[in-house]
Amino acid sequence: MKPALNETHDPHAKSWVETANVPDCDFPIQNLPFGVFRPNGDKGPMRVCTAIGDCVLDISALAALGAPADRAVFESCAAPVLNGLMELGPDAWSALRKALWSFLHQDSPHQVEVAKHLYPATDVEFGLPVVIPNFTDFFASKNHARNAGAIFRPTAPLLPNYEHLPVAYNGRAPSVQIGRGSIQRPNGQLKKPDSPPIFAPSERLDYEVELGFYIGQPSAKGAPLTVDDGWNHVFGVSLLNDWSARDIQAWEYQPLGPFLAKSFATSVSPWIITSEALLPFRQAVAPRDQQDADLLPHLTSLSDQQWGGVDIHTEVSLASSKMRSEHNAPETICATSSSKALYWSIGQMLAHLTSNGSNLTVGELCGSGTLSGQTPQELGSLLEKTLNGSTPLTLTSGEKRSFLEDGDRVILTGRCEKQGFAGIGFGVCEATIAPAARL
Ligand code: MN
Repeated sequence: MKPALNETHDPHAKSWVETANVPDCDFPIQNLPFGVFRPNGDKGPMRVCTAIGDCVLDISALAALGAPADRAVFESCAAPVLNGLMELGPDAWSALRKALWSFLHQDSPHQVEVAKHLYPATDVEFGLPVVIPNFTDFFASKNHARNAGAIFRPTAPLLPNYEHLPVAYNGRAPSVQIGRGSIQRPNGQLKKPDSPPIFAPSERLDYEVELGFYIGQPSAKGAPLTVDDGWNHVFGVSLLNDWSARDIQAWEYQPLGPFLAKSFATSVSPWIITSEALLPFRQAVAPRDQQDADLLPHLTSLSDQQWGGVDIHTEVSLASSKMRSEHNAPETICATSSSKALYWSIGQMLAHLTSNGSNLTVGELCGSGTLSGQTPQELGSLLEKTLNGSTPLTLTSGEKRSFLEDGDRVILTGRCEKQGFAGIGFGVCEATIAPAARL
């Protein structure tokens, strides 16, 4: 069904927070993402916030301004994570979005009161916005699956199951962290041809640009979701960097899939862009090729094919320590979009995940898998860009990269644009590579 829009999507709406009205701003009044924060220097607990222009708004402080019917929703925001808000369900999320929209709208009578709870985004610290009970990483970009497969298994790049089901593995939720600060290069078992394995720092550290989507509504055990149910369970979408140690991965991954090569760290952006904010950018899922395998009925939906996709433009930029010390801007090394990259929709991923009777829990995080398009600029990992290190990338600084080096900063950004609608951004998900622990 075509997504139903409301006044919060009105492209002409403006905020009294002037920086929200600047073209290309990530956080206009039509976005209203959720995160958790505390002011710099405040040692108290984090609390729920939204972003408007270049500011952060403390939602927990606004309960008195909200309608009595929304009291429980505002009270759920006086918490260090979003799980309580998630549990209240889609009607509550939508009511909160409407209330925030009216507080921040240029005609709001509450400007003076609301302005007391705004903080410049540069003066706050963000936290991991959700207690994540589970992390599932899909592999939903066929371009990425084919490219990565060709490197590890030249004779059989795409395995026989790929067109039949959205492949995934269970990741480690405890190592999901906010995309700020540093990522330590992992130590692990590395096996070079013709020599025994050694335990040493990974020499092939890589990023993977992905979308993360958070489950806001649980499902019952033994009650598989239909493809059309999928989006109803999604609270929102963020950027996700699935850091990968390719040398550890190549040695450990058969036969059960990735483990330590991925579980040392996963970064997510501080902001979750709600499913409701994404409605204007929903669109048809990329058509399957004519020669592709026929889908089984439980993964098929005409409505999902028409409206289950979402168009999110993603970029990866790299700033080496040399570039930063010379005050050079980060260099964009990948630009692609979910609509070009994804072979499986979110509805299909969740229908598959629950098809055996397994259930969804509030706060779960799913990764889409590396978003790769078809051109060199659209490849979402260094594994693909450098053909596993064999054709290093030359940066404008003159430096070469086969894989990430210590001091490299990787920055993910995302944005939705569509004619006739206000564009919205995802903020940034970034981290700098720190040296491995000494052995
Ligand atoms: Mn991945």
